[in-house]
Amino acid sequence: MRWENLSPDSAHSRADAALFGAEAVVTRTFDTPEFRGITFHEIWARSIVNRVPGASRMPFEWTVNPYRGCTHACVYCFARKTHSYLDLDTGLGFDSQIVVKVNAPELLRRRLASRSWQGEHIAMGTNVDCYQRAEGRYRLMPGILGALRDHANPFSILTKGTLILRDLPLLRQAAEVTDVGVSVSVGFTDATLWRTVEPGTPAPERRLDVVRALTGQGIDCGVLMAPVIPFLSDRPDQLRATVRAVAGAGATSVTPLVLHLRPGAREWFTSWLARHHPHLVARYEQLYAEGAYAPKWYQRRITRQVHELAEEYGIGPTRTGMPRRLRQAEATGPAGATGHPADGPTQLTLL
Ligand code: SF4
Repeated sequence: MRWENLSPDSAHSRADAALFGAEAVVTRTFDTPEFRGITFHEIWARSIVNRVPGASRMPFEWTVNPYRGCTHACVYCFARKTHSYLDLDTGLGFDSQIVVKVNAPELLRRRLASRSWQGEHIAMGTNVDCYQRAEGRYRLMPGILGALRDHANPFSILTKGTLILRDLPLLRQAAEVTDVGVSVSVGFTDATLWRTVEPGTPAPERRLDVVRALTGQGIDCGVLMAPVIPFLSDRPDQLRATVRAVAGAGATSVTPLVLHLRPGAREWFTSWLARHHPHLVARYEQLYAEGAYAPKWYQRRITRQVHELAEEYGIGPTRTGMPRRLRQAEATGPAGATGHPADGPTQLTLL
């Protein structure tokens, strides 16, 4: 791993420290069933508020990501590639080697108090899930939310983690003084598919319970229906079941997003596909022949179907509760909502 070179006289130390923004690295394991097999790399980051690269079409400019790697272990995870920047494995390594920026709350508080900060919207959960299991132990989010609340700084969170409900009081306090938007990622409700493709995540029904709880408390909560997985979760009856469940949970919006397979995710997903659905490998090669994205006609078809279902179940069409920033993303169409900036340590993904 690159930061093994972070000794004072290492020829690489300055460059590596700059790359990771890390002052120090402590590696820990915990022998509890929840964290067995997982290694945590605690780092003292130099900065926590990242600017989205200029070329990005993402609908926000600033992000905070207190973790790298994600124990939710979604096979298709778009963020896998970012682990390679740390010389870490993008497969099992991404699921089990978790980087924790232990000083994230204090760094954020300092940044929000600085003169140069203009109170812009901050997006969280844009790279990996900030409410993954590690958050149960490290408890970084309460400090982060507390800082945002104290500075009345608008923010949004995208997550699959039910742990967000732990912070409901803080979210409510923040929502009293600023714009707060939460999106929960639920791509489908098929339990068999969930167990194999998103093995470390809470079940889709539990995530919809989060939507129910948040909207019940007056917090805007939409569903990012991501990813819709071709040939596995895109049948009309599957789309209908998902949108019906999303509507039943009281989501203020539903935004579909078709699976995309960038390097890192593509290899890992394809090996999973070959093990679990070998008959689909050739069809995927065809569908993703042009690169990371399914063809536009396919994306448009899914988007249209989901929007029609959303209207039928009364979620749209105005999507009044949708966080403003995400409404802007949707307005730019599927490419805007899935757009990625150039590769680099601040690469953004959507859960
Ligand atoms: S898709 Fe999201 S929840 Fe799943 S592993 Fe990636 S970051 Fe974690």
